[in-house]
Amino acid sequence: MRDARSRELEERLDDVRARIERASQRAGRSAADLTLIVVTKTWPAEDVRRLASLGVTDVGENRHQEAQPKREANADLTLTWHFIGQLQSNKARAVVGYADVIHSVDRLRLVAALGRAAAEAGRVPTCLIQVDLDPAADAADAGKVVGHSGARGGARPGEVPELADAVASSPHLQLGGVMGVAPLGGDARQAFDRLAAVSERLRRDHPAAVVISAGMSGDLEQAVAAGATHLRVGTAILGSRPPLG
Ligand SMILES: *Cc1c(COP(=O)(O)O)cnc(C)c1O
Repeated sequence: MRDARSRELEERLDDVRARIERASQRAGRSAADLTLIVVTKTWPAEDVRRLASLGVTDVGENRHQEAQPKREANADLTLTWHFIGQLQSNKARAVVGYADVIHSVDRLRLVAALGRAAAEAGRVPTCLIQVDLDPAADAADAGKVVGHSGARGGARPGEVPELADAVASSPHLQLGGVMGVAPLGGDARQAFDRLAAVSERLRRDHPAAVVISAGMSGDLEQAVAAGATHLRVGTAILGSRPPLG
């Protein structure tokens, strides 16, 4: 498919790849060590196909109703599918059916549901522990804030070891590492440094759990500087998302 949309995607993809290259050079890292996940949520299945023909290997989705048919429409392509949205335990079975990597594991109940669903499906998805990077989450760990709600999803840093052990001891789940979203209006670099510290602590117990999924269209440079291994970029490549509906 070499239509006008393909050319538009190619141009924006080239821009993002150049940003990653520059950020890597500044950080003394190799861009080859970074995985770009193109977040295709709200965009049609044909865009996934166009992106694959432009060399994209990893795509991200956040709503299972949308991801499942898109995956089916592109079943002939070799792509790694990432589920990056908040996940209810009762959707575990559906998501395990198509997701290769699940970025939003943040509760023991969800680990149990994913473990059961993966065993039944005969699949072994990689799980990332989503960490709440709001500084209030650290305060909640220290007992300073009561009722911190974690509205954007994510476990408190202090909850990560227990969650990681639960994932690692589940025979059908692979512990991959951590994921985080910088808090709105906050300092992205500081947030990603906090995530890197959680990752370092995690790797003491689980040396293979090296993934750090951080950085989106607006803050991928800060994520690269802080040591991210996976970037989740939507808008900068696909354009502003059309309204859901
Ligand atoms: C939508 C989304 C992204 C991509 O955000 P952009 O700003 O469009 O690049 C990354 N991560 C998560 C968790 C998302 O929901």
